Amino acid sequence: MDKIIQDQTLTQKNLKQIRLLAVIGAALLACFIFVDLQLLPITLQKVYIQSRFLIQLPICGLFIIITFAPFYPRIHQFSMCFTILCVVYGNYWLILRCWQLEQFSFPYEGTVIYSLFVLFVFRIKFKYALFFVTCTLAGFILLTMSYPIYGERNSISLAFVLCGLVVGLMGVYQIENVFKKLFSLNTQLAHLSQIDQLTNLLNRGTYESRFTQLLELSKRNGASVCVFFIDLDNFKAYNDGYGHLKGDEIIKLQADMLQQIFRRNTDIIARYGGEEYVVVTANLSEEQCIESANEIISSWESKKMPHGKVAQREYVSCSVGFYREEVDQFSSKDKLVAKADEALYLAKAQGRNRFVQAQSNVSLIS
Ligand code: GH3
Ligand code: MG
Ligand code: MG
Repeated sequence: MDKIIQDQTLTQKNLKQIRLLAVIGAALLACFIFVDLQLLPITLQKVYIQSRFLIQLPICGLFIIITFAPFYPRIHQFSMCFTILCVVYGNYWLILRCWQLEQFSFPYEGTVIYSLFVLFVFRIKFKYALFFVTCTLAGFILLTMSYPIYGERNSISLAFVLCGLVVGLMGVYQIENVFKKLFSLNTQLAHLSQIDQLTNLLNRGTYESRFTQLLELSKRNGASVCVFFIDLDNFKAYNDGYGHLKGDEIIKLQADMLQQIFRRNTDIIARYGGEEYVVVTANLSEEQCIESANEIISSWESKKMPHGKVAQREYVSCSVGFYREEVDQFSSKDKLVAKADEALYLAKAQGRNRFVQAQSNVSLIS
């Protein structure tokens, strides 16, 4: 039911729930018929039957029918509110007729029950609840001011309805606030569970699931996929020499660079672990892949950040291994990753600060 209040795009499940609630509400209303008929004078039974069977129950039925309309999701909050308002006014009509015909004071408590239903079972939003409460109160005030239906108990009846509705309104306000907080916390948690805290890139788990999705999509579209592995060179020595905090800055900087280079929404850029990153892209030509790998290497070269903690490594640099494949039904994540990893291994073995492209069906490592 939580989604009903949060989400304007109702799912089929939400719609079924709303219809079920409407049926339960109508059934409860129908149950009262047996009790009410015991209490009512015979002369009022006709008008009572009319109000229940010609006004209130048809309104519930009409509401259920409207939920099948394609435009219903756009008006669902309003239509829940308006439906119960019509039921309430159907009851006011009954109260009025009972008074006019037989000076009979038909109970008003139903008004509060209908209101509780729309406020807490249908769970309309606060602004609709405010509209509902205002209209319900206005009708009741008009009724009791125009006719002394409840005699000397007129004012206490009015006070009871007023308090019942205001308390209901306060409840809606509180619940809506709690839901808003929960919703925002939930969004934050979902975000945190997908993101690597240090770099703000995707974490390993999210990378795995996004990669699976991207590969499946590429198989259907006949696209190419390219996997890049990026690893900082001699980073242990950098850490040992400059400390972990400085090391963290380099790790973040590498992440920023990758985000500058791979800018498409569909690009998956993740921290694979430690000082190792993975990027998965779809539909890049071979030339574009080489260009991207070149950019990764040259980004560090142009920065000229001193490393100097290892012989022959004057500046901070990284190595890149990548593998591109026109995917088909036999393509697998494991193969794409293994090939890119193999290429990275070779880039390290050949002296670092370079990229190597893995070729299909040719093992780079002998
Ligand atoms: P290579 O060029 O072969 O990749 O050598 P390397 O020293 O970079 O590789 P190695 O795997 O031996 O060392 C990786 C180092 O990365 C080890 C660890 O100190 C450092 N590291 C891993 N995660 C973090 C992190 O979150 N912050 C910092 N500052 N360092 C990290
Ligand atoms: Mg390294
Ligand atoms: Mg490493």
